[in-house]
Amino acid sequence: MSAILTARGLTRRFTMRKPLFGAATVVQAVSGIDLDIEEGETFAIVGESGCGKSTLARLLSHLIAPSEGTVTYDGRDISALSGAELRALRQHMQFIFQDPFSSLNPRMTVGALIGEPLRIHRIGTAAEQRAAVAELLRKVGLRPEHADRYPHEFSGGQRQRIGIARALATKPKIIIGDEPVSALDVSIQAQVVNILEDLKAEFGLTLIIIAHDLAVIRHIADRVAVMYLGEIVELAPAAELFAAPKHPYTEALLSAIPIPATGARRLRTTLEGDPPNPIAPPPGCRFHTRCPHAQDRCRTERPVLRDVAAQHGVACHFADTLSLPGIETTEKPR
Ligand code: SF4
Ligand code: MG
Repeated sequence: MSAILTARGLTRRFTMRKPLFGAATVVQAVSGIDLDIEEGETFAIVGESGCGKSTLARLLSHLIAPSEGTVTYDGRDISALSGAELRALRQHMQFIFQDPFSSLNPRMTVGALIGEPLRIHRIGTAAEQRAAVAELLRKVGLRPEHADRYPHEFSGGQRQRIGIARALATKPKIIIGDEPVSALDVSIQAQVVNILEDLKAEFGLTLIIIAHDLAVIRHIADRVAVMYLGEIVELAPAAELFAAPKHPYTEALLSAIPIPATGARRLRTTLEGDPPNPIAPPPGCRFHTRCPHAQDRCRTERPVLRDVAAQHGVACHFADTLSLPGIETTEKPR
């Protein structure tokens, strides 16, 4: 495998101005992130809301520009692409949103919505586009005649299938799902996740999935990056991250996943309170205000992401000595 998408030192600051006083505050939403996303993998980015994961996804697809750092797609710096090259990039990289229709015209038929990327990128004749829409509907388990209906006639799970069909229309190489199943009932989440997995195999896609909890990505991710206040605090193959987390924050996220009763109960870290204000992140380790293992050093010295095992990076001073409980990985429900 080789990297299809690479980030180096990726940083994004937003300036917010208070309407009355005009005082500007700067939020560093994403801080110095390095990533290599391999072709064909499912890469998950996980963290609480406000941790910068959606901003990171938008930086990776150049929907927004970085304040510092670079993103390389297929060996090219995407901030240096020409207009035509950027349009090709858009074809290759598509988004799935939490609810694909919340921002789209409710008066457009499903067929028009799915076919829209084909019209925008001028792919095929009108007849070919109609045939492609029918085929895409079939691929996501819907019927060609659904093309004439309107989004409100469908359930949340069906709407997300339509969102997936729309994302697939331009035959992308990468699909970025920003909380693609978070708005769905748990019973429907698995169905949508399974469709994504099947389509990934069929089309050789690279998937980047953003989620606020680890449960959603448990059965599909190959690798997981855990983000906290704009930084990656742990990055590891999924099986290893679930079985043997090395960062206390990862362990806390794992503890939120319900485990089938096994008799014995383990003591786990639970997250108290909200994350600190990103405008003024804590000094030292950003997690120290909520970390049950924090020591004096954590309050002043910032831990950097370093490898504690092959392909397993952790940003914690005590990653080698802490013994944190993981969760057992079970068979994927289908
Ligand atoms: Fe906790 Fe310290 Fe590790 Fe940060 S560096 S996660 S505060 S033990
Ligand atoms: Mg978000």
